[in-house]
Amino acid sequence: GFLTQPQLNDHLLHRLHDLQTRFRHIPQPSIAELAEELQLPITQVEAVIDFYAFFHRQPRGQTDILFSNCTSCGDLALMQQLCDRLQVEPEQTRADGRISIGQASCIGMCDHGPSALVNGIPLTSITAELIEQMAALIESDTPVASWPENWFRVGNHIRKEGLLLSESFEPGSALKSMRGRNRDQLLEAITASGLKGRGGAGFSTGMKWQFCRDAESTTRYVVCNADEGEPGTFKDRILLNSHADEVFEGMTICGHIIGATQGYLYLRGEYRYLLDALNTTLQRRRDAGLLGANILGEGIDFDIAIVVGAGAYICGEESALIESMEQKPGIPRIRPPFPVTCGFRNQPTVVNNVETLAAAANIILRGHEWFETRGTWQSRGSKLLSVSGDCARPGIYEVAFGVTIEDILHDCGATDVQAVQVGGPSGSLVGPDKFSHCIAFEDIATGGSFMIFNHTRDLLDIIGKFTRFFAHESCGFCTPCRVGTTLLNNGMQKICSGHGTAHDVDELARTAALVSRRSHCGLGITAANPIRDGLKHFPQLFEARLLHQEMEPEFNLDASLAEARKLTRRDDAEAHL
Ligand code: SF4
Repeated sequence: GFLTQPQLNDHLLHRLHDLQTRFRHIPQPSIAELAEELQLPITQVEAVIDFYAFFHRQPRGQTDILFSNCTSCGDLALMQQLCDRLQVEPEQTRADGRISIGQASCIGMCDHGPSALVNGIPLTSITAELIEQMAALIESDTPVASWPENWFRVGNHIRKEGLLLSESFEPGSALKSMRGRNRDQLLEAITASGLKGRGGAGFSTGMKWQFCRDAESTTRYVVCNADEGEPGTFKDRILLNSHADEVFEGMTICGHIIGATQGYLYLRGEYRYLLDALNTTLQRRRDAGLLGANILGEGIDFDIAIVVGAGAYICGEESALIESMEQKPGIPRIRPPFPVTCGFRNQPTVVNNVETLAAAANIILRGHEWFETRGTWQSRGSKLLSVSGDCARPGIYEVAFGVTIEDILHDCGATDVQAVQVGGPSGSLVGPDKFSHCIAFEDIATGGSFMIFNHTRDLLDIIGKFTRFFAHESCGFCTPCRVGTTLLNNGMQKICSGHGTAHDVDELARTAALVSRRSHCGLGITAANPIRDGLKHFPQLFEARLLHQEMEPEFNLDASLAEARKLTRRDDAEAHL
């Protein structure tokens, strides 16, 4: 039988989301009840609660606000303003239980300026005035449902349409176009198109599907990775919002080709507000005979259910995502075996990015020749870029592979550019000397994030923020990443605050090399990229911030004795080191 949404309501993550919404935390007695009901070890339920940022053991406020701390959709000064105004400490719930305020990693609203999740719903374009109005509504106990609707408006901001976005797509059209072609021919069309994974890694989609189809098993799965958590990325939000049929159709086609009857879309918790609309689209497709048993009377059986994540960046890694779908903490698996042979429930599984699946549906509909009209030979087709930061027109730009960084900066109205972070913190920090380079798998690859920083920005501080992001999002499974990202973060914060020396920079470079070489998964392997690129392309920024002495200890002994001096009421020169 197919798994559709009602059955998936029993998924541990969904049950925890419900409890969190209802009680504003996960009450202790519910943990044992849930474990028994779902027949899971109690330790597994507890581990899941503790792993995901959106679940809490202690009650959050009636209104729970999580400010994004991303460099593009975050502004923590606004968070502090609201905390001051409401007399609440960050990450604490006010004594009257009315409000709690905290931080979240990028929430995918980078084209909207400072944003936050209010009881899980994105509130965008926050200003100092809006903070005052929010504070008044919270103090007057106005439920979030009665707050002005336009505060929660999320636009698409499509600035440039290319191969994919400019075509209209009739639901079912790609499926109908499969008639008369067998599974080999369909796979051949995908392979011939040269489509590569749009998540950034660039693995051949045709090859991935082929490996999965060839794997020994009677059960296979298709998973759409809609967990885009890379800071600065929001393109999947637009695809899921306005092109969901293409994504679902791509999944269905993949299922038909590889011999899967069940697909899952793993939706990041920050996009939970899209869930109802996505489920409506799925139901509409079932009603139209485009999902379920005997699709279009062609004997194809396939259905899709949605699993909603809960604020863990690491779940974007495909094996961590599968663990999460299996109701466990999202800890990346040891690979090989790869998901194509041993994935969800240890069965062969294709995990593809949202954009990849939308492109696949269009390739089946329009032919691989259509796809090849754009891009370069090694990077065929187009790429959706999420452009944010210091430019006149942030938003979605669908560009042909091979476009230069310079061209994109020109298109979006960016001037006085100091640097661009292509591909998010795990990607590349690029300075003007590289602006003539291209967006392509053979040059600068990207999952879609394109963050622009002009000369008013403190680039060192931004590198520090990216480093802190990785330290925060490390799942803690392997030592090089768990300890290494924290050491990198400490080192960067020391340098940023003007206490670093040349010795600290050497240490930073040494630790960075170790973390990238020894970590278990992509998060650790790429965590030091901002530091690596910073040291390589912007060494003068580090140099200018250093103390010019041999070494300054990280621990300030004299400051640590302040308490003792206070107790002994001594503050003379002798009491100092
Ligand atoms: Fe977890 Fe980091 Fe190790 Fe990946 S590299 S498994 S995120 S600790």
